[in-house]
Amino acid sequence: MPIPFPNGLVDVDNRRMTDLGLEPTRSPLALLLLGTDADPDSERGVECPGDLPPVSDPGLVARARAAKDRLGDRVFILGHHYQRDEVIAFADVTGDSFKLAQQAAAHPEAEYIVFCGVHFMAESADILTSADQQVVLPDMAAGCSMADMAQIAQVEECWRVLEAAGVAERTVPITYMNSTAAIKAFTGRNGGAVCTSSNARRSLEWAFSQGEKILFLPDQHLGRNTAVLDLGLDLADCVVYNPNLPGGGLTVEQLQSARMILWRGHCSVHARFTAQAVAEVRERVPGVQVIVHPECTHEVVSCADAVGSTEAIIATIAAADPGTSWAVGTELNLVKRLAQDNPDKQIVFLDHAVCFCATMNRIDLPHLVWALESLADGTLVNQITVDPDTTHWARVALDRMLALPGAAARQD
Ligand code: SF4
Repeated sequence: MPIPFPNGLVDVDNRRMTDLGLEPTRSPLALLLLGTDADPDSERGVECPGDLPPVSDPGLVARARAAKDRLGDRVFILGHHYQRDEVIAFADVTGDSFKLAQQAAAHPEAEYIVFCGVHFMAESADILTSADQQVVLPDMAAGCSMADMAQIAQVEECWRVLEAAGVAERTVPITYMNSTAAIKAFTGRNGGAVCTSSNARRSLEWAFSQGEKILFLPDQHLGRNTAVLDLGLDLADCVVYNPNLPGGGLTVEQLQSARMILWRGHCSVHARFTAQAVAEVRERVPGVQVIVHPECTHEVVSCADAVGSTEAIIATIAAADPGTSWAVGTELNLVKRLAQDNPDKQIVFLDHAVCFCATMNRIDLPHLVWALESLADGTLVNQITVDPDTTHWARVALDRMLALPGAAARQD
């Protein structure tokens, strides 16, 4: 049912979006009132369809090792940098999501790819691996709040808004790797590409060679930081499309004059770091250098000493001089591991008010043991599959990224 326009949402030509033939609908992400109903889509996977060993089981490490040994080369375990140490201990390879998806494709002998990460990453692995490889996510509730902020129905509605405003044909969609397969496929279908946090600049430069504007999904901060700091655009060139408002909350004139149309999405971890925390750590730790991820807000990135993808942060600190001090603004599991791996440097977490990524931490040893033992017993559990049409178009968008000059893709 259409929702009323908020007061004042009238474009400069005095046309409302309904005048343009658009029927805004309530966001599919609208929250249910507690206890009033159920949402099977958003609540998928909250029940584990098996007997999960208790967290207190002292034999979990031995059970994980035994199940992995039973599976041998039939299983390949991927561990994202933000995973817990107890899970990383069983990973055959660690990395960011794109590197892990590529690693999965590079091991065709592995019948099972167990992805210790989040849902969109497992989808990417399924897109890049062969049809006879099965991708398993140990806990189906390990989603990503950023990826979930861009639902395909909302993005399609946004495109209709751009068409009605007369700008869609001049707009190239670029989606961050941290998006669902459906959004990657949308991007592929509409002439766009995927990007990572380390090749975002090249992706945006390519997109501006193909069109006049970019629709950047789903992380507004990566889009804004790249456009302003790397490409030299002005903040005023960027507008934010709010999928929960009719017409994205933007006027036709705003859509026509903007160069970057940023989707109103963010990372629930990185967007919480503050400029105040940067100032405080500089007071607390003399000579500290602040390095943050580009998913942080523009204000935070602007007052940091360095900004880089997860892999860039790891490499920068590894190459730093002994005795240097670093405050790191990224996921806490990685920061703790950086401190362990670099005992000759002082590594501190940028802001103690920021927590672990809740969904990344859904993958724990009991879920990993359950998944491995089930596979070793011949039961395929928690398989992540992407349908053929979505796979085709998502691959188109991924291949456009890989075709960029020097696209050494790294992200998240
Ligand atoms: S750290 Fe942020 S982007 Fe990464 S999985 Fe968690 S919510 Fe998603």
